[in-house]
Amino acid sequence: MSFNTIPLTSLAGTLCDIIGARRPKEAKGEIAAIKELVDKKAGGKVDRMLLYNPDAVGQWIYEKYYNYFPCVRDNTDIEVDVLTAFPPKTPICFATMYTGADPAVHGIQTYCKPVLQTDTIFDALPDSGKKVAMVAIANQSIPRIFEQRDIDYYVMKYDGDVIKKALELIAEDKYDVIEVYNQEYDDRIHYTWPTSGLARKALKHYNENFGKLMEAVKKNWTCHDTFVAFSPDHGVHKPLIGLGTHGKFIPKDMNVKHFFGVFPKQ
Ligand SMILES: [Zn+2]
Repeated sequence: MSFNTIPLTSLAGTLCDIIGARRPKEAKGEIAAIKELVDKKAGGKVDRMLLYNPDAVGQWIYEKYYNYFPCVRDNTDIEVDVLTAFPPKTPICFATMYTGADPAVHGIQTYCKPVLQTDTIFDALPDSGKKVAMVAIANQSIPRIFEQRDIDYYVMKYDGDVIKKALELIAEDKYDVIEVYNQEYDDRIHYTWPTSGLARKALKHYNENFGKLMEAVKKNWTCHDTFVAFSPDHGVHKPLIGLGTHGKFIPKDMNVKHFFGVFPKQ
């Protein structure tokens, strides 16, 4: 297994470009395949986004359990193999995903959850007139490090509540961008290991949850060109002794596969 070459830093600027927002100040690079997809299916720009962040789905786990992810493949157009930020831990990776900056620049370099002082898409999108909702889990990395932005926060108890709220918000049809976070697999691998029965069940839930979100988008956002993403933060591994974990510079922890799709307006 070798390391992926497209860095996670290239996502944030690309997302802002395709929805016509300014880029976060430190965002680097772009993902050309996303731009080609949006050119082809929506004439270069979208006006809606549904970003789904399932915690800890390593690329090798996706490949090993390929059959668990039909809803992900059915609702997306392209796959991009991404190299996440180091060390591959949740707040560090999401900070990189949504600032477009390396950890040395955004400042989260160890496992901690300070409010980010670096410019993020959650600053850039509202600055550009986009209405943004974040649906995440109380006390977890995402709602904490991205606090104090001009967006609406829906901080829920666990994955099921997150999906329920996200489905309501999609149906209400008032946000331009909705970010949705789920964490069950990351929790399970730390209690057990990456391929345990409990952990595998969580992967199936991610697939089902993404499928529900996509059905809601297809039903309710027909007047919009919508970009969708299935974007995990980092991978996982099992040490020789001990439970599942992540945080090392190894392909199992560093490689993630992201899926992107466009639903053109009808
Ligand atoms: Zn994580």
